[in-house]
Amino acid sequence: MDGGLVDSRTSKLTIDSGACGYLTIDLTALCRNYDKLSSIIAPARAAAVVKANSYGLGADRVSKTLYGRGCRDFFVAHFVEALRLRPHLPRDASIFVLNGLLPGNEIACAEGGFIPVVNSLEQLRLWSETARSLQRKLPAVLQFDTGMSRLGIPPEDRAAVVAHLEATSHLDILFIMSHLASADETDSVQNGDQLAEMRRVAEEFEGYDLSFANSGGIFLGGDFHGVLARPGIALYGGAPTGGVANPMEPVVRLDVAVVQTRTVPAGARVGYGGVYVTKMETRLATVAAGYADGLPRSLSDRGSVYYNGVRLPIVGRVSMDSMTIDISALPEGTLSLGSLVEVLGDHQTIDDLARDAGLISYEILTSLGDRYTRQYR
Ligand SMILES: *Cc1c(COP(=O)(O)O)cnc(C)c1O
Repeated sequence: MDGGLVDSRTSKLTIDSGACGYLTIDLTALCRNYDKLSSIIAPARAAAVVKANSYGLGADRVSKTLYGRGCRDFFVAHFVEALRLRPHLPRDASIFVLNGLLPGNEIACAEGGFIPVVNSLEQLRLWSETARSLQRKLPAVLQFDTGMSRLGIPPEDRAAVVAHLEATSHLDILFIMSHLASADETDSVQNGDQLAEMRRVAEEFEGYDLSFANSGGIFLGGDFHGVLARPGIALYGGAPTGGVANPMEPVVRLDVAVVQTRTVPAGARVGYGGVYVTKMETRLATVAAGYADGLPRSLSDRGSVYYNGVRLPIVGRVSMDSMTIDISALPEGTLSLGSLVEVLGDHQTIDDLARDAGLISYEILTSLGDRYTRQYR
């Protein structure tokens, strides 16, 4: 952070909103990540996956910012997210709904100008029927299951889809897509298997544009790029590929306030269950964020936070609204009421914290709570 509003090295908490810490979202880093992904896949375009409130970072701000960077294609998961996002984007931005249609959504989906990802024959028929009843052509994307068995038209239904499209002319199919199950594992055989299946789909649905890659897929090479990639986590600074250096820039910083410090003797029990017992005299600090703020309980006795680059281990169980850290490694008096410690930042990435918690970066981001002051830079 260069001269930001928060400096965990020196600043005290001056939050007038009553928040327990600062969640800082670096929109310039987000833009650089978008540019980087775009340049890797050019001439293909990069969409932005902004489901789950842009993985917790704020779909309105993230989407507006990326629109300003040239992004015109935005993917959400649920229809409700499309409704929430619409007012924040100009009309020429396309909003795609990955889960497609649920019965009852069709008219609102058509009237809002949203584009459902059609995942089954049932959804295809529903959307065609909606178009027929409204007497207009409606846009759609067809998703095919190429080996994940989650969402998408299964192989055995492809012929029926072809027949349906030949028999009706109510839908405007913008492109076809599929999703990779193991894109973050470069050497997984599943990637090649899915690519082969996608090529079979492309032969059966000749002439349609293709969308295939998520963040990991972008780094699997040109075969996976199609015309439109769908990155999510990489935009937000998460590692797109496991086991190699993360090429993306961090976007999120989290600093949390100290609410109490104390010195305890050897043999003191710390936190719920008293599972942690100090081995020697120990200086402790309690910080104002817990599992309700997205710091998973699995960080108990495992994770750490940082102050001025010094690692401060989490001791005892993470509580709902607080957790306790061992600050013995710092000179006495360094931390006091209102001091900020770094949970995510220069010394700890979302992938680091996720690893300590036995989770993935996606879970860390999408869980960050709403009790922090959010600041966008
Ligand atoms: C969530 C999702 C993405 C984005 O995945 P990342 O791994 O975050 O890049 C892309 N496509 C589909 C279908 C998704 O569900």
